[in-house]
Amino acid sequence: MNGRFAPSPSGDLHLGNLRTGLLAWLFARSTGRGFLLRIEDLDRVKKGAAQRQLEDLAAIGLDWDPPVVAQSERLPLYEEAITRLTAAGHTYECFCTRREIQQAATAPHGPMGAYPGTCRNLTEKEQQARRDEGRPAALRLRAELTEFAITDELHGEYRGAVDDLVLRRGDGIPAYNLAVVVDDADQRIDQVVRGDDLLPSTPRQAYLATLLGLPVPHYAHVPLVLNTAGQRLAKRDGAVTLRDRQALGETPAQVLGSLAESLGFPGADTPRELLKGFRPENLPREPWTLDPNGLLQPSSQP
Ligand code: GLU
Repeated sequence: MNGRFAPSPSGDLHLGNLRTGLLAWLFARSTGRGFLLRIEDLDRVKKGAAQRQLEDLAAIGLDWDPPVVAQSERLPLYEEAITRLTAAGHTYECFCTRREIQQAATAPHGPMGAYPGTCRNLTEKEQQARRDEGRPAALRLRAELTEFAITDELHGEYRGAVDDLVLRRGDGIPAYNLAVVVDDADQRIDQVVRGDDLLPSTPRQAYLATLLGLPVPHYAHVPLVLNTAGQRLAKRDGAVTLRDRQALGETPAQVLGSLAESLGFPGADTPRELLKGFRPENLPREPWTLDPNGLLQPSSQP
């Protein structure tokens, strides 16, 4: 069985992404799992970014098991899952524009941002009328419940909203929530380690896996890296990528050392050294606050 890191190739990885990748590697390797990389390139692709991401992960000392797959090469797999869900009556076409959904979602039903179900019960005739208007159809899940619980290694039991999420976008591209579920099962990934900004999406992914008859992986949602204003670290915060740090004279081993220190392991400068003492239960549960304009040091000790 395998763990994985699944970056979106929208630009260079910043220290928060590298730290999450390192954690995913540590969780996988410390439990004897394989470690896979998956390029999530169904949207927001910057040319050359995937290759640079791999180079940066290798530079800080991570290794992975081939092949590296890209979601854009796997479209038939997602369509097969969509076909199965549709055959079982779990999907419907949705003709709403983004604007219509935003306006409707402010109405007082369902959790914030949940799709209000406008197209859920359209008749065949109503659907045809919308097609005739030239409206592109997205495909949505016909969810049979509104909440689903998962277990997370760091967060314990987590219960969250499930709505009629998009499975295939109006432009024909499979949606992230579907692709991730199909890929994790297909790649025998039973351990999902990623940033805790994705925790709220996890119940719907686990529900989708269950509907498809696929196993639900073990989850560990790890704290993010924040800037000094307490916001999620971003490129605009300064010298936050490995290449930025190298331009300031730091070596990849030093950058790895800072990431290690933020995880409570001062003095390590390779992932292998970190592996020796790695215990998920001892991980800091708080975000790491980073001042990229100062020295690359954790501003608060875990
Ligand atoms: N591609 C997603 C991201 O870069 C991660 C998805 C996942 O780990 O499930 O935010």
